[in-house]
Amino acid sequence: MSQQFGEMPDKAGYFGEYGGQIIPPELKVAMDKISDAYETVRQTRAFQDELQELYTHYVGRPSPIYFAKKLTERQGGARIFIKREDLNHTGAHKINHCLGQALLAKFMGKTKVIAETGAGQHGVAMATACALVGLPCEIHMGVIDIEKEHPNVTKMKILGATLIPVTRGTQTLKDAVDSAFDEYVKDPDNFLYAIGSAVGPHPFPKMVRDFQMIIGKESREQFLAREKKLPDMIVACVGGGSNSIGMFTEFLPDESVRLVGVEPAGKGLDTPDNAATMTLGTKGTLHGYKCYALQDKDGNTLPVYSIASGLDYPGVGPQHCYLKDMGRVQYESATDQECLDAFITLSRVEGIIPALESAHAVAYAMRAAKELGKDKTILVNLSGRGDKDADFVADYLNL
Ligand SMILES: *Cc1c(COP(=O)(O)O)cnc(C)c1O
Repeated sequence: MSQQFGEMPDKAGYFGEYGGQIIPPELKVAMDKISDAYETVRQTRAFQDELQELYTHYVGRPSPIYFAKKLTERQGGARIFIKREDLNHTGAHKINHCLGQALLAKFMGKTKVIAETGAGQHGVAMATACALVGLPCEIHMGVIDIEKEHPNVTKMKILGATLIPVTRGTQTLKDAVDSAFDEYVKDPDNFLYAIGSAVGPHPFPKMVRDFQMIIGKESREQFLAREKKLPDMIVACVGGGSNSIGMFTEFLPDESVRLVGVEPAGKGLDTPDNAATMTLGTKGTLHGYKCYALQDKDGNTLPVYSIASGLDYPGVGPQHCYLKDMGRVQYESATDQECLDAFITLSRVEGIIPALESAHAVAYAMRAAKELGKDKTILVNLSGRGDKDADFVADYLNL
């Protein structure tokens, strides 16, 4: 089985039937160039050394694994551990793949990096990475998200990025992707579209996963060093699926480790206001790749919703779709309400304010801890910190 996982995706970018490059021929040429450049550069010592140096001294890796003793006592079951991606420079896991993509852009001699952003985390991380390597950066963001995620918008401007407000459609993440894509196709030779998750046409799902695999690699070592065994369950939230696939990949061959991806159930799975792609989606094509998607019977993507801007995306990374079908990863969901409860609980019990996205994973872990015995362990990937959400939550809850 491990061999099967190790070789994903195939040369055409397929994970089973998912992924690929479902794009016009001229764009396929551009994607193949990126893929070739990536495969070349990743083999070089210089690239790996530069990335590792940045991970250590710029991002602050390895991020710690923290035993959440108070939360564990409160839930009264399995011991809960937290992988602290929230402590990374810029506050989330996204810096891991942004630095990789910025270095690749530099290597390829690109003149501009384009990116979309939902919660603003990818925008800030990309603007940061571009400032560092000295490349112009253009960020596309829905106006609804711009309003909600004000601190991140300000940071992008300070970092020197150009902000493009997106007014089309639902004015959120999916439309920002479309807008960024339109700009990219104007000059694919000179621009790099740095995708914010493990989604899009090949090679992006693979490339973003590879850069995020540092999370799982560190976690395995750290967990074994302190507990002398692997965790019984690993939980991560799933938007496009980058923090989760980065955490899970290293553990795929370990059949004793239950892997759980948590999607946003929004106002409920029985309402249209959710973004639970794995739970409710059907097979379709979106943004240049095949995946499960929330769509109508004609294949038009449906409007999606989550209290966490970074999770409201109607598709999901192709490797996740494959892992769902083969039953290796279990996909669950948490509602806005459960997310808010977890947000407040983790803040008040452990003094850690999580991102609303990450709070979905915390919510599921809190539920699971009660069901699993005290001899079991759960590792939660805390993908980001909640500074960006603090004002929004305080208003929402009338604090
Ligand atoms: C963007 C974001 C996510 C969702 O993206 P994935 O690609 O699914 O990881 C989750 N958590 C945080 C903190 C984010 O910023």
